[in-house]
Amino acid sequence: MYLHQDNLGNPIDLPVGKVVCVGRNYLDHIDEMHSAVPEEPLLFMKPKAALCDMSQPLVIPQDKGECHNELELALLLKQPLCKADKEDVISAIWGVGLALDFTLRELQKNLKEKGLPWERCKSFDFSCPVSGFVPFSQIADVQDLTFSLAVNGAQRQAGHTALMLHKVAELLSHMSQVFTLDAGDIIITGTPKGVDALHTGDEIEAKLDGHLAVSTTVAGQ
Ligand code: ZN
Repeated sequence: MYLHQDNLGNPIDLPVGKVVCVGRNYLDHIDEMHSAVPEEPLLFMKPKAALCDMSQPLVIPQDKGECHNELELALLLKQPLCKADKEDVISAIWGVGLALDFTLRELQKNLKEKGLPWERCKSFDFSCPVSGFVPFSQIADVQDLTFSLAVNGAQRQAGHTALMLHKVAELLSHMSQVFTLDAGDIIITGTPKGVDALHTGDEIEAKLDGHLAVSTTVAGQ
């Protein structure tokens, strides 16, 4: 069962909540998907059953077409947020980590074409592996972080949080106008380009420069 941990592997005393996700928040990924730039943040959710520990072997569905990596900056909340102003949201963040937003890409294309919601392609069990979280006091500037994903030794994704279209404070404030965010919820903030299929046996290294490096493998199911 998933429990929040810090970057040293110590348990964090917060409940496990929902995962709120942002689509299309980096221009280079919007371009690679031939998607349109959204006027306001594109939001979707994953249930807590989607969460798992990124450092353990990762489970991907085997019979639903390509499962893609999307490496994203993740935020763990320590306080609830309801209709909060941008100026008031940063103090609600416990810390910062990395998440993989696993996406069944062929199924997503199908759902998009039919105008259907995305839960079937993005919110399945174990679809959101997360790292430990770095306490927010150790993060000098959440909009000046670099992160990257290597698969079998080759770099596949590299992101810089300065390039988010909607920045962290704006995202949290915006989400909290739509629904209440709770202590223990995780927010994932969108992927840069480099999404591609994962396969059983792939060796993965996810890094948040200066803070975290997670090595793991794709186990299959
Ligand atoms: Zn994503």
